[in-house]
Amino acid sequence: MNNIPNKTLFKITKRTENRKLGNVVVVSSSPKTCPLNCEFKNNGCYAEYGPISLHWRRIDQKGINCSDLCNEINNLPVYLPIRFWDAGDFPGNGITLNRKECIQIGNVIKKRTETKNYAYTHYDMNIQENRTVVRMLLRRNLIANISTTMYQADNLLNKYNLPVVIVVPEPCSQTPSGHKIVMCPNQMAKLNKQDGVLTCDKCLLCAQWPRDYAIGFLPHGTNKNKVLAIARTSLERTIYDKNRKKNKK
Ligand code: SF4
Repeated sequence: MNNIPNKTLFKITKRTENRKLGNVVVVSSSPKTCPLNCEFKNNGCYAEYGPISLHWRRIDQKGINCSDLCNEINNLPVYLPIRFWDAGDFPGNGITLNRKECIQIGNVIKKRTETKNYAYTHYDMNIQENRTVVRMLLRRNLIANISTTMYQADNLLNKYNLPVVIVVPEPCSQTPSGHKIVMCPNQMAKLNKQDGVLTCDKCLLCAQWPRDYAIGFLPHGTNKNKVLAIARTSLERTIYDKNRKKNKK
């Protein structure tokens, strides 16, 4: 039931020159960090396939611990943005975030006032402790984006003021409840055959908080058809629920 790692291990990659990311520092964590509720776990997650999966799984043997990660971050040039959890998630037990380790990371990020830093988490924000930890991270300049599909995202946006990113089946501008969505500019440029024109280091929408919109992502990766099917089902369920509530009134 519980997938608690004995100690969470991490990998930090400095100065990636990548067509999507540009010049950002990337931090990944052990596959054991992924929460049990993630809809894509063993079910289409891009990090579970291809070359990235080999690098990811190696973190369990060769990764560094949380204190070493924080030391590495402290030694980074102040101007480099950091993107957390290219693969993996925040430290946690699969259900709740590990407040101590998350805040340890948040405290070193807080000192990086000259850059924007962002993360993605699939932890369940219906759990109060997870929301508390995410808010503590937001106050420390680490923008922890809650990564979901439409059904959860629309509900979260109705209830909580948190940064949300949504995997959507096709480009869109709002959720069924009317929350604004801005599609990832990098993916949109790629759709318009301008791949590499707008990289994350130039965009940094994901590192923007507060913001009055969710960010939409299209399925990508080797198993994107599986992800697409999940995203589509989630959207259809949201629309169905909304219509049912409307008809009850
Ligand atoms: S929205 Fe911007 S920062 Fe976020 S993934 Fe897309 S290009 Fe990168």
